[in-house]
Amino acid sequence: MTSAALLIRDVRASVGGTAILKGVDLEVPFGEFHAIMGPNGSGKSTLCHVLTGKEDYVVEGSAELGGTELLDKSITDRARLGLMQGFQYPTEIAGVGLREFLEEVADERAIPDQIEARLAASAGKFDMEPFLDRAVNVDLSGGEKKRSEIFQMAVLAPKVAILDEIDSGLDIDAVREVAEAVEAMRSPDMAVVMITHYSRILRYLTPDRIHVMMNGRIVESGGPELAHELEDGGYEALRQRLGIEVPAAPAREKVVSEYFTDTPFDV
Ligand code: ADP
Ligand code: MG
Repeated sequence: MTSAALLIRDVRASVGGTAILKGVDLEVPFGEFHAIMGPNGSGKSTLCHVLTGKEDYVVEGSAELGGTELLDKSITDRARLGLMQGFQYPTEIAGVGLREFLEEVADERAIPDQIEARLAASAGKFDMEPFLDRAVNVDLSGGEKKRSEIFQMAVLAPKVAILDEIDSGLDIDAVREVAEAVEAMRSPDMAVVMITHYSRILRYLTPDRIHVMMNGRIVESGGPELAHELEDGGYEALRQRLGIEVPAAPAREKVVSEYFTDTPFDV
């Protein structure tokens, strides 16, 4: 039997009395790669924030990493336990080389030996040698930043890696490259959760499971065929199949924020 790397049970989160996550259940075994899809505003990033420990939310429920409860731990302790998130907009760290950065993080998280060996092996695998002595993410293209994030995960080898909209802002070639890097990161000792609202990146990757989040809940889980259904019919077709109503919005003028999405450069 495979044990769960990540076991989420009835996680609820609210901000200022507004419920955003309304009971999320999810189980990701070690060695598996799961995708969470869902329209904008369905709560995907909130789930990420709640797992990593961002403090804005009132949280209930349970999320275990390799059998240890995460939700009562500090951000640092969650990272030490083996949770790592890749960012939608990776941070630039001027003046700190990538190699130096990874060595320090490994040291601080008490990630043991063989960091040098893993660094060298992963640099080769992800084609990152030219970047090792350059400042972290400074002057990298969008695709290179995302590749660098995945490389960092491969080196630091978390138990659970979460990628939130790793494909946002990338052109189609970079999406393919990032997808290949995610596939290359797979390991029997790691679970990967990839969040995306486009099925596009899934043309180049085959997750073990796909989960769809709508209105703060996972409403459907399935195999790769679920991505094809979404590619063909969009979220609307799935809503219809499941009999889910679009939440009624109060009648009003469109506000400025609705003209923007969190992926401004998608092709
Ligand atoms: P997704 O990542 O699926 O696009 P989010 O998790 O970012 O969705 O957001 C879900 C909903 O929760 C949105 O309506 C968003 O505005 C709201 N939300 C998320 N975080 C906060 C917060 N800190 N304060 C207020 N509202 C929030
Ligand atoms: Mg999001």
